[in-house]
Amino acid sequence: STTCADLSVNETSCDTAPFASVCGSDLVAPLADGSAVTYANFDYAASAPALSSVAARVQDLLPFYASVHRGAGFASQVCTERYEGARGVVADFVGAREDDVVVFTRNTTDALNLLASCVPGETVVLDIEHHANLLPWNRNGARVVRSAGTVEETIQRIVAELCTRPAALLAVTGASNVTGEVLPIDRLARIAHECGARIVVDAAQLLPHRRVDISDLGVDYLVFSGHKLYAPFGAGALVGRADWLDAADPYLAGGGATKNVDLDDVQWAAAPQRHEAGTPNVLGAVAIAAACEALAGFDADEAELHERILCDRLVAGLSDIDGIEILRVWPDSADAVGIVTFTVAGAEPREVATFLSDNYGIGVRDGRFCAHPLLARLGHGEGAVRASLGLGSSSADVDRLIGAVADFVRGRA
Ligand code: PLP
Repeated sequence: STTCADLSVNETSCDTAPFASVCGSDLVAPLADGSAVTYANFDYAASAPALSSVAARVQDLLPFYASVHRGAGFASQVCTERYEGARGVVADFVGAREDDVVVFTRNTTDALNLLASCVPGETVVLDIEHHANLLPWNRNGARVVRSAGTVEETIQRIVAELCTRPAALLAVTGASNVTGEVLPIDRLARIAHECGARIVVDAAQLLPHRRVDISDLGVDYLVFSGHKLYAPFGAGALVGRADWLDAADPYLAGGGATKNVDLDDVQWAAAPQRHEAGTPNVLGAVAIAAACEALAGFDADEAELHERILCDRLVAGLSDIDGIEILRVWPDSADAVGIVTFTVAGAEPREVATFLSDNYGIGVRDGRFCAHPLLARLGHGEGAVRASLGLGSSSADVDRLIGAVADFVRGRA
């Protein structure tokens, strides 16, 4: 396997984060002994700190603070132009088709609930999903496929479920928020279409790590959150085919979603406005667009290679420590983004996470990651520890984490 020394793209990029402009990458964390250390962030999968260029874009727009659409004033015109312009940037970034719509939402959860309110039938979903991509589908009937066995066995179970009983939609994660594992989305899209269904990809974890082109992949709908994509909290997006969105009742009823209102008759606007009632999160949408532009400007291959090397290093280092189990859904899945979830034999996940923070200034996440069925099926219903990588991650951070976990285990021996 490739090591730091083999890294040819950029000799230094394994030791220093290649994308230094991540906000908060120089945070200082207090330790239990009263000293302080540079914070090592391994919690990107929860929320990725905004890029400096994103923060700057938000700062630039603040003086124009005004509500969008119906305002003739200069500030309102600027905000309207930036807000509507953000849709085009997002559409380009994810390879949307000409007639797809971009609806701005609060986050991925909101986007999936919105789509669930528009789906004209049942949804097939895997048991590995984040609750955000599991619970909304109950509204119209969710049929849950088990992920036991190999990837191929799981895919065949999806085929059987979709093709023996019609379903409107297949809902799959782009990358597991617990294990980082990635399924072959293009193949799942073909399967869904052959069985008369559409596919939505929950890209909350995939998009921050990989370039995604929904036209090439044949994906009908894509959802994601700004706060995991190096933009601030509070905005996300649903991108995809307009017809279901135009046929459904508005997700929220209110101003901005209408063409005309009489007291006894309402004419609703078409999507995206149909599902964006109320004053939108202009700054959030503009920040998402800024993040998309910044990520589009990075060398995706370099970023992916950097992450793969760090991830391999982390997995190898943790695997060498007694009593560590690294969670995987499938024994044969080859592809994963930089998310490594593990347990330490005999230790509570919270105990491990607190030790890492108090003694090493390392931020990980512990718990069940809003994927309770998956943790239970993997035999870790009590939870685990998740270390996730991002653009600010470095090999020094990875080594600090490995050393800290080894120290924790040694301390218990
Ligand atoms: N889907 C996946 C795969 C996630 O990892 C998350 C958040 O962790 C979500 C959905 C929900 O995202 P949000 O809380 O931004 O709605």
